[in-house]
Amino acid sequence: MDKDTHINGQERHQGSDTKFIPMGSITSGSGREAAKDVYYYTDQIVNVIFIGDPEDGKWVLVDAGLPNAAEEIKNVAADRFGSGSKPEAIILTHGHFDHVGGIVDLVNEWEVPVYAHKLELPYLTGQERYPKPDPTVEGGLLAKISPIYPIEPTQLGDAVHPLPDDHTVPGLTEWSWIHTPGHAPGHVSLFRERDRLLIAGDAFTTVRQDSFYKVLTQKQEVHGPPRYLTTDWDASRESVKKLAALKPETAVTGHGVVMSGKELADGLQHLADHFDEVAVPDFGRYVDRRNKKDEQ
Ligand SMILES: [Zn+2]
Ligand SMILES: [Zn+2]
Repeated sequence: MDKDTHINGQERHQGSDTKFIPMGSITSGSGREAAKDVYYYTDQIVNVIFIGDPEDGKWVLVDAGLPNAAEEIKNVAADRFGSGSKPEAIILTHGHFDHVGGIVDLVNEWEVPVYAHKLELPYLTGQERYPKPDPTVEGGLLAKISPIYPIEPTQLGDAVHPLPDDHTVPGLTEWSWIHTPGHAPGHVSLFRERDRLLIAGDAFTTVRQDSFYKVLTQKQEVHGPPRYLTTDWDASRESVKKLAALKPETAVTGHGVVMSGKELADGLQHLADHFDEVAVPDFGRYVDRRNKKDEQ
């Protein structure tokens, strides 16, 4: 779509192909604290994160779950921060359907600003759709059903803003955002130096996302980004290295359970050191370019 035809302030809507996706895991519908003020809630298979101390009542939401997640997110927020409480802002790690599912309803209800990396804005302002997920990629059932995943852009109009250039995170004092592209062009992770807590979005995961069985049971291990939606494996590798270099103590990812300590350190370092073997699929639409380059 031509940029000039986009009118800010027009009616917000989810992508036109948005629909309920029948996926689940054993942790779906439950939540857990990664720190006193960092709580994550699992919506079907994806984590929604609430940053803020329930005692002072100020908080920020990170990501917005799968389609139709808004009600559930509002209920969790009310339980944790009190009814009628709304966040200072919503931060999106990226705009994939499983991270923006409830966003339009939430913004309509709360009227709070949404922030994402500037390279992600075309997908959030109705301008660009994501490349098609790759059902032929090496990696199981979730990849095979990926043609049903919504890719049409979300339209948030003037409710969505670029993250500040100085890497601060609106609504949060101790956090900074880090550009971690590869899985999506404007993918970001959030980091807090004080306790080395990392929110990694889909830059890496702690469950093998292309294995239906492991998603179901949430078996905990450090893995690369979900394969079927990752289009730039070179950038993705560099992003994982960047995050490993931060030496996070705790990581909450978009998919999987919280990990910390030596298990996280060893797993993340192994992923960074052996990314091509363990994360990059052996075949698939978006690995051809890389293979060609390697042959040169
Ligand atoms: Zn994603
Ligand atoms: Zn995801």
